[in-house]
Amino acid sequence: MSLTVLMNAGPWLSVPPPGYGGIENVVATLVPELRRLGVRVVLASVETSTLAVDEKISVFPDGQFHALQRPYNQVCGVSQAHLNGVVRALQHRDDIDLVHDHVEAVGLATMTAMGPDAPPALHTLHWDLAKHPELYGNLDGGDRVRVNGVSASQLARAPQALRDHSVGHVHLSTPLAVDADRRPRVDKGDYLIILGRINPGKGQDLGARLAQQVGFPLVLAGPVGPYHRPEDLAAAGDEARQNPDVRFFYEHVAPHVDGDLVRWVGTVAGRERDDLLAGARASLFPLRWEEPGGTAVVESLALGTPVVSTARGCLPELIEHGRTGLLTSDEEELGELVLAAELLDPDECRREAVARFTPAVMAEKYVGLYERVRLGARPL
Ligand code: UDP
Repeated sequence: MSLTVLMNAGPWLSVPPPGYGGIENVVATLVPELRRLGVRVVLASVETSTLAVDEKISVFPDGQFHALQRPYNQVCGVSQAHLNGVVRALQHRDDIDLVHDHVEAVGLATMTAMGPDAPPALHTLHWDLAKHPELYGNLDGGDRVRVNGVSASQLARAPQALRDHSVGHVHLSTPLAVDADRRPRVDKGDYLIILGRINPGKGQDLGARLAQQVGFPLVLAGPVGPYHRPEDLAAAGDEARQNPDVRFFYEHVAPHVDGDLVRWVGTVAGRERDDLLAGARASLFPLRWEEPGGTAVVESLALGTPVVSTARGCLPELIEHGRTGLLTSDEEELGELVLAAELLDPDECRREAVARFTPAVMAEKYVGLYERVRLGARPL
């Protein structure tokens, strides 16, 4: 297939990310499969990205994750500076068939503003958008700018302006799903895990109370704001508390972190992350937000770890209650579900991942969407 796609992964982290990195993981998973299908990929990211691509464009020398500590308008400023550089690069060339953009509302606004001579753009929505309709108020890219969601529930909750421009959704996937059914079985430990950013929406405080209720150890893995390691957060001092996730951690999670039953291990990566997830009795998602995509959910399945979660956002789309996990709309029931999770079969989880969440499945769906966008697809 002769198609050149400019894949805009944004300025926050390198691709692949060093550990935590939702959007960057998606791009790192998708791009190799697209290239296998013959798509030429120009990656717009930061200079330190090491993903194999046909060409790289970067504005910042390295990931600007540390800027996430600042108030939101400055955060947008970083995205905007990155995007301005990408737009400048696009103005001097006519070989880009399509832009696949992942950079928040700023990305979409910029693509829209590029006017009729710009390549068609597909913007992937990564966030729960119901609370932020103002970010996506003014969409006027005509048939040239389209959006896709990462789950049906995310799109259903999105502002009307976005749904009017939507060409569907593509669930997230993970390289761990390839051959997941042939991976050797890992002995399950007695602990629970929450893998993800420490954030009120991800519900680590609720998870910690749950662990104390059922008496199973809980491992909390993930960054607190821009801090990846407990010692970095400790060294950051009081200024770190400007970040809302840091405040959430100190006020609602840290009081439960006793180093024994509940531990915060910081960001885990690579083999360490996989082993930790594969050895857990259950992967907890005590969500308080409508999870839009849930890469960590899919990764849990691929590693044979059943999911116990509140039935929010995309969880009911990803998890079959009673087979690959246990879901409830009542937080109070989570304790019972954790106890019941050992009845679920890890092989069923792996099989589900192989059937639905491989990078090849994701890439084929995206190639289909690219075609629709290039043909000026009407929204669904
Ligand atoms: N992650 C990781 N190490 C951590 C915490 C998270 O590698 O300590 C990865 C996780 O495996 C997943 C991604 O970061 O691939 C988070 O994506 P997800 O969609 O689950 O959450 P969000 O994008 O909302 O942060």
